[in-house]
Parts: sequence; C-alpha cells; structure tokens
Amino acid sequence: MIAEDANQGLADKLYLVKYEIDEENCHLIIKDEETCRRCEEKPCIDRCPAEVYRWVEDEEILEVAYENCLECGACQIVCPYDNIDWSYPRGGFGVAYKYG
Ligand code: SF4
Repeated sequence: MIAEDANQGLADKLYLVKYEIDEENCHLIIKDEETCRRCEEKPCIDRCPAEVYRWVEDEEILEVAYENCLECGACQIVCPYDNIDWSYPRGGFGVAYKYG
C-alpha cells in the first residue's frame, strides 16, 4: 500500500514533465553489466528521482527506463564504480518542463 502511494505520488509529480523520447538512442549506458551484479548497494536505484533504474532479480540485470530520465545527473555521481556512461539526449530529445 505504501509503495502504491509512493508510485502514485511520483506519477503526480512527473505529470508536469514532458518528454521527447529518442527511440533510437539510449543516453544512459551501463558500461559493464557484470559490475552491476557485483555492486551490493546499487545506489542508482534509490537516488534516481524518476525511478529510472530497476533491478530485475530473475535475470540479474539492471533495467534502465531512460525515457523517464530527468537529466539531473545524480546516477553517474552516486555509482561507486563509474559504471554509467551518461550523456544528454540528442538535440530535440529528452525532458522538457511544463509550468502549470
Ligand atoms: Fe535518474 Fe537523474 Fe540519472 Fe536521469 S540523470 S536516470 S533522473 S538519476
């Protein structure tokens, strides 16, 4: 119930954000998936304000919903292994903020 409330709260907050999704290029690249498997903390999951990262236990992969990225840069800073190749989306793509 708390997780559902948190997800709804996030959805409400992101309602004012608009994205132009680049279907051909992901601007958040995991350099080495094995490094993510070895990383016990996985701080990108908790620190990302847009819940872009999700650990898929069955497949042991870090799922990256790059299309939801707010381009804050936090994930590349908190990754203890410098394992995220971070760049801004190509021109014309990415996040745009609506104000009201
Ligand atoms: Fe999440 Fe910010 Fe990283 Fe985008 S740049 S994936 S919003 S932490």
